[in-house]
Amino acid sequence: MDTYDVVVIGGGPGGYVAAARTAQSGMKTALVEKESLGGTCLNWGCIPTKALLQNAEVIHLLGRGRAFGFSFDNLTVDYAAAHKRSRQVVMRQNRRVAALMKKSGVAIYEGEAHFVDAETLVVAPSDVRLRAKQIIIATGAKSRALSDCPFDGKKVINFRNALEMTETPESAVIVGAGPIGMEFATLWSRYGCRVTVAEMMSHALPLEDAEISMEAEKQFKRNGINVKTETLVETVKPLDEGVSVTIKTGDVRESITVDTVLVAIGFTPNCLTLDLDKAHVAVLKGAIDVDETMRTSVPHIYAIGDVNGKMGLAHVASAQGMIAAENIAGRTTKALDYTAMPRCTYSHPEVASVGLTEARAREMGHEVITAVCPFAGNGKAVAMDDNIGFVKIVAEAGSEKILGVHLVGGHVTELVASATGMIALGATAEQVAETVYPHPTLSEAIMEAAQALCGHAVHL
Ligand code: FAD
Repeated sequence: MDTYDVVVIGGGPGGYVAAARTAQSGMKTALVEKESLGGTCLNWGCIPTKALLQNAEVIHLLGRGRAFGFSFDNLTVDYAAAHKRSRQVVMRQNRRVAALMKKSGVAIYEGEAHFVDAETLVVAPSDVRLRAKQIIIATGAKSRALSDCPFDGKKVINFRNALEMTETPESAVIVGAGPIGMEFATLWSRYGCRVTVAEMMSHALPLEDAEISMEAEKQFKRNGINVKTETLVETVKPLDEGVSVTIKTGDVRESITVDTVLVAIGFTPNCLTLDLDKAHVAVLKGAIDVDETMRTSVPHIYAIGDVNGKMGLAHVASAQGMIAAENIAGRTTKALDYTAMPRCTYSHPEVASVGLTEARAREMGHEVITAVCPFAGNGKAVAMDDNIGFVKIVAEAGSEKILGVHLVGGHVTELVASATGMIALGATAEQVAETVYPHPTLSEAIMEAAQALCGHAVHL
């Protein structure tokens, strides 16, 4: 039996960050990973999608080449090359995580961990037993299937199957217009696929501020994506050739046959195969129940990232990993404020936000003022020929404390970090309005929205 101060199960952005931190704090640490270091995020999520979306962005730029004085004939695009590049990016980042584990002194066990009791794990298939004073569960989540049509990996697929494909389908239905659905819709449509997105809520990206969702949806449609909202997918039937999908919008029922159906309707935490009952770890509504320090119902067992169902984002998993590691090291931590977590969608246009939407702020009883600054007049955006979208700030009337910042447009995922700082530090619109932003940058739109909120916008 190998003994450790800390054993981490799962090497995603939650698990590997937590393991590095406990090892760097002087604790003997092991990490068990059944597949690849970096987890879903690095191998089948955040990173390969962004590599592919960069290719999609290049296609988009080339398509507008004439506006920049470039002309060419017979442009060909090669998705297999884009796919190859995305896997190279993944492999490169994999090596970085492996090097970090080595440098931090984390012992790696390859295989699937299961609880034997609250202090002991067995790793399959090697059967190695690990004993630990503290255990961190960071096993992530898997994609949810449609209730009456399981994934077949070929015609009815999840994100991972989609990222394994070396060609894009000619036609597809994407079920769910959340960030993952809209990122694949952007990617595939840029490569010529006819994409229909079916969303049961009233707008694409339904968790975003309503004005942002509406603008994003308008642009998705302009980009040729057939977004159908308030639409239910009733049946999905794989045929010899393609898949037949029946969708219902209001009273109108429609049948479409496409090559592929990508299901992007959410995730289920990976806790069923861990034998958690042997360690008496409590599960609540399918996710491992944790307190603010990420402790489960068993004080020396922690659960971080997608497996605790709090918020399925890589940076949240890493932040929770740091909290678990710090508590294990005996240091106190502040509770995470989930409304201050930035959220990004890397579609075209991009969408990013932090804090409360206008509707949520009102529901919570805030008296709210808002201001918008479009990118249409922003010098950098116009120079880049990418000036759709806007910044919206939601603030509390009277104090003008910023409650939420919402962005839609080109490159806005790079702008939301500064807005995150504003929310985290409790900044007011006046403070942001008085801050000098560099010119010409897209970020000036945030400053101008703040100035508009304070009633002294110069350019608007
Ligand atoms: P994971 O990254 O899922 O890692 C869990 C690891 O545990 C896996 O490697 C798994 O093999 C391993 N494991 C599971 N069970 C066991 C076991 N019993 N024994 C040993 N190992 C085990 N988030 C963002 O913030 N930004 C994005 O742009 C973004 N894009 C995404 C795009 C896609 C297509 C998808 C699917 C997700 C995306 N996400 C994004 C979400 C992000 O990937 C997850 O929130 C993040 O990976 C969660 O990290 P984690 O450490 O909790 O789990």
